[in-house]
Amino acid sequence: MERFTVRTRQRMEFVDITDRVARCIEATGVKEGICMVFVPHTTCGVTINENADPSVPADLIAHTASMVPRHGSYRHTEGNSDAHIKASLFGSSVLVPVTEGRPALGTWQGIFLCEFDGARTRSVWVQVVSAAQPGR
Ligand code: ZN
Repeated sequence: MERFTVRTRQRMEFVDITDRVARCIEATGVKEGICMVFVPHTTCGVTINENADPSVPADLIAHTASMVPRHGSYRHTEGNSDAHIKASLFGSSVLVPVTEGRPALGTWQGIFLCEFDGARTRSVWVQVVSAAQPGR
């Protein structure tokens, strides 16, 4: 499994990790298969969305913040209940098809680490599974 870390700078921030995931895939030498991108955290997530217009992740952050306000009638006393809820809404992994040794993403798609309780150093784990069949 490949791993890398991301240093986030804001409490809520989407960090484009597409290139780093692509480098992980290259490091495995897998040409055809599936790539799982996983974050081993309970207050950040990972998602695929548009990385061409920075307004898109900005809107995702702003509207996620209004759906799940930072302060509310939460039972968890660490003060980051909103971040736990946001992390579950986005999920802790995405799957990306791999073809020709690259992540097969749509034209406008990028892979984002979704920070909900930064700033922190986050880990990203990338597991690439080969679809190659012996003798092909
Ligand atoms: Zn907590």
